[in-house]
Amino acid sequence: MNWAGLRSWLRVSLYGPQVIAFLPAMMLGGFWFGGEGLLILLALVIPCLLVITQPRPGWGSIPGLAKKTTRGNTMREAAVEVLDQLVGMSNTTGKKTACMALSIDDFDTLEDTYGAKARDNLLLSIADRLVGALRDDDLVVHLEDDKFAVGLSSVKIADLEALIQTSSRLQRALDDPFSVDGTTVYLTCSVGFCTHDRNAGGTGASLLSAAETALQVAQGNGAGTIRAFSADMAPRDDMPGIRELDLATALEADHIQPWFQPQVSTETGEITGMEALARWTPPGQRHRLPKDFLPEIENAGLTERLTETILYSSLKALADWDKAGFHVPRVSINVTTEDLRNPKLVDKVRWELDRFDLGPDRLVIETLESVIANTGEDMIPRNLLALSELGCRIDLDDFGTGHASVAGIRQFHVDRIKIDRSFVTHVDKDPKQREMIDAMVTLAGQLNVDVLAEGVETMGEHTVLAQLGCGTVQGFVIARPMPEDEVVDWLQRYDQKLGQTSRETGTTLRKIAGGGTM
Ligand code: C2E
Ligand code: CA
Ligand code: CA
Repeated sequence: MNWAGLRSWLRVSLYGPQVIAFLPAMMLGGFWFGGEGLLILLALVIPCLLVITQPRPGWGSIPGLAKKTTRGNTMREAAVEVLDQLVGMSNTTGKKTACMALSIDDFDTLEDTYGAKARDNLLLSIADRLVGALRDDDLVVHLEDDKFAVGLSSVKIADLEALIQTSSRLQRALDDPFSVDGTTVYLTCSVGFCTHDRNAGGTGASLLSAAETALQVAQGNGAGTIRAFSADMAPRDDMPGIRELDLATALEADHIQPWFQPQVSTETGEITGMEALARWTPPGQRHRLPKDFLPEIENAGLTERLTETILYSSLKALADWDKAGFHVPRVSINVTTEDLRNPKLVDKVRWELDRFDLGPDRLVIETLESVIANTGEDMIPRNLLALSELGCRIDLDDFGTGHASVAGIRQFHVDRIKIDRSFVTHVDKDPKQREMIDAMVTLAGQLNVDVLAEGVETMGEHTVLAQLGCGTVQGFVIARPMPEDEVVDWLQRYDQKLGQTSRETGTTLRKIAGGGTM
């Protein structure tokens, strides 16, 4: 047995209930058989053992970012070691442990915007908040990137309900804004957890792996989600890695498809469009989010192929909704710098619109604010202008994060800015957020461009955004992105709800019938 193992064994022996029960008897026995000498020895040795093996502070949070611990092992290895001890304790004492894996939503974007140093400071502040929300002897470790592990030291109750509450408490700990380079940043996190009872492997490593599997499922359901591990979730190791071949095949077999998220008018409640968001659903597996495969798509040089697929499927869906009698005015697709460098892009768009007999104003091209801010190339402005002249709309995505100039907005014929979620979160509660949105809406008004607020999650935010003059909103409060085969049902339900509301409020909404273009 190595030192860590011995410490763990001693800790379990010393902190178990048997010690409390037998300590007086041991002292008495010591005095009885060994006289005063043994009594004094025991009185000295037992506290020393308690000090050496005490769970605090060594068990508590492991500070610092995921580099190496002083003993040279990774933070992940350190986490597994402590979780092993917690599992060992639970087995002996009958008290429960549990592990949570937690990841900060949209963290990549933050790093891109504020840089690596700000990112590290932010991670330290996040770790601080998490530590503050837990007991001293719980474990918080920064595993890597935007991911943390939390180990709950033995507690009496670690059932589903209690763990959902703890997960929510951790989410709430990140509710207040963080300050990054003098700017206010709001964060959310997704949590996956596994209870001691569901840890089939019986080790710290299996407990962490199960929590991470649950986290993957949580992330697949959108930001801010909590999921408990269950045995039917595929173990992480069974999730095949992403290889170029997989992606090429997935694109070929139409396993990568757009899901659709509605955008609605704040004035009338009517649907103004749908954003197409790529999802990869390998057969028999859960769908994967763009952040898990877009980088590989780019590395594998498959961006053009992806955009073709999304463009084709989105326009086909739009034509199908028209035929079914639903009025979805437009569909938006996301394009990358790589797409905008492609001299054939405009021809391809024109060709696909013709194929489905759709007017160019039914298609919105979403380009990142950073793309128009940094372009020193000729092809990107040429393509954006040509798309605009063709009649497509241009949306500036993630507005507020990418330093686009006023000149750029004019030069690229932008029709609408999409205010990034980071400015939208808590806009109903935080005057600073309101000031930012107010400034953006004013700027947009002066430039004569429309405004959409994205990532709207609550009715409170929705109301304030409408008051501030954002013409369109998009976000979970309206609907999460959904596969095409769920859209028609959703449209039907939404239409009914809208009709009912308009009857109740006496508002006359334009009756939408048939599939005319707008
Ligand atoms: P984006 O274009 O900014 O898309 C908005 C993201 O916010 C989507 O994440 C959407 O699911 C998420 N979202 C929508 N409403 C809410 C909300 O109320 N709260 C929160 N927390 N999130 C919300 P998703 O689908 O994971 O896409 C991430 C990014 O991947 C997109 O960011 C876009 O940049 C990129 N992407 C998605 N589909 C495509 C595609 O077909 N082609 C390309 N090139 N990029 C894509
Ligand atoms: Ca977008
Ligand atoms: Ca966006």
